Amino acid sequence: MVEKMGKLAVNTGYYGMEIKEYPVPEAREDGLVIKIETFCICGSDQHFVKLKEEHPVGVEGHEFMGRIISMGSRANETLKVYGGDLKVGDRIVVYPHITCGKCDTCRTYGDGVCGVCENDFIYGGVFEQNREMLNHNADVWPHFKGGFSEYCYIFPGTYVWKVPEDMPGEIAALLDPCAVAMRAVEQTMTNIGGLAEGLSTSSRCLVIGAGAISIMTAMILRQMGAQQIIITDFVDKKLENAKEIANVDVALNVSKMTSDERVAKILELTEGGANIVINGANHPSSCVEGLRMVRKLGTYVEIGNAMDFGAGIVSEINIPAVVFEKNAHITSVVANTPSCFDRAFKFLKRYKELPFEKLITHRFTSLEEIIPVMKKMADSDFIKAACTFEE
Ligand SMILES: [Zn+2]
Ligand SMILES: [Zn+2]
Repeated sequence: MVEKMGKLAVNTGYYGMEIKEYPVPEAREDGLVIKIETFCICGSDQHFVKLKEEHPVGVEGHEFMGRIISMGSRANETLKVYGGDLKVGDRIVVYPHITCGKCDTCRTYGDGVCGVCENDFIYGGVFEQNREMLNHNADVWPHFKGGFSEYCYIFPGTYVWKVPEDMPGEIAALLDPCAVAMRAVEQTMTNIGGLAEGLSTSSRCLVIGAGAISIMTAMILRQMGAQQIIITDFVDKKLENAKEIANVDVALNVSKMTSDERVAKILELTEGGANIVINGANHPSSCVEGLRMVRKLGTYVEIGNAMDFGAGIVSEINIPAVVFEKNAHITSVVANTPSCFDRAFKFLKRYKELPFEKLITHRFTSLEEIIPVMKKMADSDFIKAACTFEE
């Protein structure tokens, strides 16, 4: 019998991607295999491809969804499925992390909390992982361990959501970035120290940067009833998108302003500072500015600057003094939970009333197009790219 082969894309260092073929695995009794329908490209995927050195990667891509083609007899017990048992033919989307459940942080914060587990496996991750099978080496069975691929093996312990038949695959594949946006907003609902008030109908909110996650953050803030939402960027086209998709109050191009002018403008627009600042921009200076723009006892959430590319903070500002003065709740989104993903998925399921499809600006149909599309990610009309394989 001839083995059925499938393709995946392996990162080979600085804007190199090799398409490789491997036999499509059969599901073991505790896992399942999907035929990928759609995957999206994340900013972090592009960062990994830009790195000059070669990484020991199998396949990148953690934003994907697909249809079950083979399934083990015990998979409904070993997978953590929201919305009832699975069967072959179902469309699913996954939580891209599998935590170990055994390390001290898993014990402390609960199984499934990503960003803290010492042995976290990420579908489509790039750094070497030593857990048996759960590694990123495409040569090691089951080969298909990420989203830039025609298939993906879904391991036991994975959290899974069923995707309704009429829900566009590219919207379901937005689960991971939408969950980052959801986590950012939910971080503003806490009440650290008992003084700072969380998100409310009176909140004046600033979202810095107008990328896909920032726009979804603004969409959620709007739906949660925030009084004022301001979004800033350097590119008019992105600001137009944000206004159209998220219905923000102010979309402000701050490219021609000095740092002090930007801070003064936000303090003026918010009448004293934003209660909530969520930074989705990827330069350290945006964080320094954001901290100056937050109101006393407000909340500052860092989404951008997820990776340190050595840009360094160039600042004349005494940051510790700013932090002291604000008494703000300063936090980030590096840790997230399956339950937050569940809320994000329920939010995406409102795709008939909310224009998520407008977030997808670049659509393509093959693995070979990943690199050419990645090279467009800095274009002014780019928000999000999705690959949907033709049937
Ligand atoms: Zn992502
Ligand atoms: Zn752990």
